[in-house]
Order: sequence, then structure tokens, then C-alpha cells
Amino acid sequence: TGIIEIDHLSKEYDSGTKALSDVSLSINEGEIIALLGPNGAGKTTLISTICGLVVPTGGTVRVGGHDIRTDWRAARKLIGLVPQEIMLEPFETVMNSVRFTRGLYGQAPDDAYIEEVLRSLSLWDKREAATKELSGGMKRRVMIAKALSHRPKILFLDEPTAGVDVALRRGMWQVVEQLRRDGVTIILTTHYLEEAEEMADRVGVINKGQLLLVKPTAELMGEFGKKT
Ligand code: ADP
Ligand code: ADP
Repeated sequence: TGIIEIDHLSKEYDSGTKALSDVSLSINEGEIIALLGPNGAGKTTLISTICGLVVPTGGTVRVGGHDIRTDWRAARKLIGLVPQEIMLEPFETVMNSVRFTRGLYGQAPDDAYIEEVLRSLSLWDKREAATKELSGGMKRRVMIAKALSHRPKILFLDEPTAGVDVALRRGMWQVVEQLRRDGVTIILTTHYLEEAEEMADRVGVINKGQLLLVKPTAELMGEFGKKT
């Protein structure tokens, strides 16, 4: 079984919107999977549900064997989430922001580990800078550092390159490549086929709340008639 097991998951919001319909998916440890789909497809809802932030209407999610509804605390420890919007403490330094997030997870301080994370994200030189002084790309990397602060096995990246230029997008791809080498399981959302192709081992195409297909990236490229 995979590190994440999603079984017949559905979500209907109080507004009546069916954001997820009968989604089943098994994600292996160390895998990078891209959820590809247009705006409103249900990608964020799917991620939020796996992280236990949205309560599903039906179905189950297990993370590391823990049912997110009955064993949320254990599941949450395994998960780091980088939301779409950048939310940082503007006057806090990079180092303190990451320390603070680690503390929220009830973990003992470990500056050596935080140094490792900041170095891998090319943020070590900026450790004493206030987050408000950083460029957009750096802010996004601080968000990733915070999400990694408690050493999660699984990282969710919701639209990691939304609204960033080509150079920054390449930088993000490199960060994902580094995390892959560290053995982190990554689930990312995107509406760029190119991005899914570049980063992911498998791609799940989602539209109108339905997971239409899940394929190894190479196979998907074949179907779209694109040479790599
Ligand atoms: P739930 O049933 O999961 O609690 P609700 O439909 O009650 O969801 O809405 C929860 C919150 O999300 C509300 O604050 C609402 O304003 C906001 N919301 C409603 N519609 C949307 C939407 N289309 N996209 C994003 N947020 C929305
Ligand atoms: P995506 O991330 O693929 O853009 P979302 O999961 O954000 O898709 O949204 C899926 C559908 O659910 C959309 O129709 C959206 O408007 C709706 N939706 C998202 N969040 C809420 C919410 N909190 N309350 C009500 N509807 C929502």
C-alpha cells in the first residue's frame, strides 16, 4: 500500500458545489505526483482534504496508515503543506519564521536541521533578513522551508509556480529535484502540462472534481503526441 491511500473520496461544499466526486488514488513513498487541471477542477480541495483541512462528504484518506478523520494528529506530523498564497510574518527573520513553525508542531528546536533546509533552498545567506525584504521567489522558498520544518515525509505544493516568471519556475523545479533526492514524497498541483512533465513521475488529470486518469509522465506525453 502507498504512503497515501485515497478511497472513493468525495466533497460537496455547503454551497452545493461538488468539488470532488469518487476520487481514488494510491501514492507511493518517494513518488512525485502532479495533479493537473484547470481552475476550479478540485485540486486545492483534494490537497486540503488529504491534509485534513477540509472534511470529506464521503470516502476515506489514509496517510502513513493513519485515517485522517480518526487519527489526524499522527497523519499531520507526516505532512508539510505549502499553500497557494504566501503567508509570512513580515517583520520576522527567515530563521525565526522556520523555528516558529517547527515549534507549532511541538518539535524540539533543531537549528542544525533548519540550517540544512535553508541551505538546500539557497536561503542560508538570507537567514537574518526580515521576510518582507525578500523577493517573491525567496518568499515562496521560505514557505517551503516552513513546511519542511518538522521533517515531514510528504510535501504538498499547491500551484508552486503560479504567477512567477520562467526563471523562478526553473528554480522551483530544481528545489523539487533536490527534495526528490532527499526521498520526500511530493504532491503538487499545476495547470501547466509542461510543469507536470518536468517535475512529476506520475500525472493525475483532474477536471470537474473527477480524477480522469493517472499515468506515468512519459506515457501521458506520448498520448499528447509530444516529444520530450
Ligand atoms: P464547507 O461546507 O466545507 O464548510 P462552505 O460552502 O460553507 O464550505 O464555505 C466555507 C467558506 O469558503 C466560506 O467562508 C465561504 O465564503 C468560502 N467559499 C465559498 N465559496 C467559495 C469558492 N467558490 N471558492 C473559495 N471559497 C469559497
Ligand atoms: P482548483 O484548486 O482546481 O482550482 P478548487 O478545489 O479550489 O479547485 O475548487 C473546486 C470547486 O469547489 C470550485 O467550483 C470552487 O469554486 C469550489 N470551492 C472551493 N472551495 C470552496 C469552499 N470553501 N466553499 C464552496 N465552494 C468551494
